[in-house]
Amino acid sequence: MLYDAHLHADGYPAERRDELLRQAFDAGVAGVVAVSMGAASCETNRLLAQRHPGRVMPAYGHHPEQPALGEEELSRLCAWIRDRAGEPFAIGEVGLPYYTRKEAEAKGEPFDEAPYVRQLERFVALAAELGRPIALHAVYEDADKALDLLERYRVRKAHFHWFKGGESAVRRMIRSGYFVSLTPDVLYEPEIRELAAAYPLELLMAETDGPWPFEGPFAGRTTEPSMVGDVVREIASLRGLDVREAERTIAANTRRFYWE
Ligand SMILES: [Zn+2]
Repeated sequence: MLYDAHLHADGYPAERRDELLRQAFDAGVAGVVAVSMGAASCETNRLLAQRHPGRVMPAYGHHPEQPALGEEELSRLCAWIRDRAGEPFAIGEVGLPYYTRKEAEAKGEPFDEAPYVRQLERFVALAAELGRPIALHAVYEDADKALDLLERYRVRKAHFHWFKGGESAVRRMIRSGYFVSLTPDVLYEPEIRELAAAYPLELLMAETDGPWPFEGPFAGRTTEPSMVGDVVREIASLRGLDVREAERTIAANTRRFYWE
């Protein structure tokens, strides 16, 4: 049994989404977490979840690698999310704009991170208020900023998707029982392979971040949720585990984190 813990289902052409999901379910994927880019994406993922009940877990938020929302839009989105009480959902994809910030800094442009931190704080507070899991995009030094907020609001269920970062953040995340997920680049990225071998198995999930394209053995292929099978096999091989055992544990982790 497999789960794709982080998928941009609405990043695929509209006419292909349901087929993509059906193919994934036929290929042994039990469920996918459909993270949102923003308000419109939240609506789309909510409808996908209604069409695939129990198998598509929507996550609602505003992706950080795009302009932060103004106060009014942010309040409107948070209110929309609160109105979903009674429905299954998580908060995400939210976090901090690492790549946008680095790009600006490389060009010598000023970058004001404050509105992004304020935005993340609202989503972290909302996750704590509603008792929902939160899917985070917070890598390298941004992980520590996200951890400060998660600790301040005592968030219990936090998932750092496609995590990359230093040892001190990793130690802090493990101490708090926070999860990380690995993408297909675990087959070819040395720093991700190291993380896959070192992070506690009971805090690991597998994801594709599809339709994000991968390299190595995946070059030129459309990213599909069933690629989490390759991720799980690689984790097992890196840790010297039986594939079935790794699959069972990682599936149980994901189910417990998002579905229970
Ligand atoms: Zn993503």
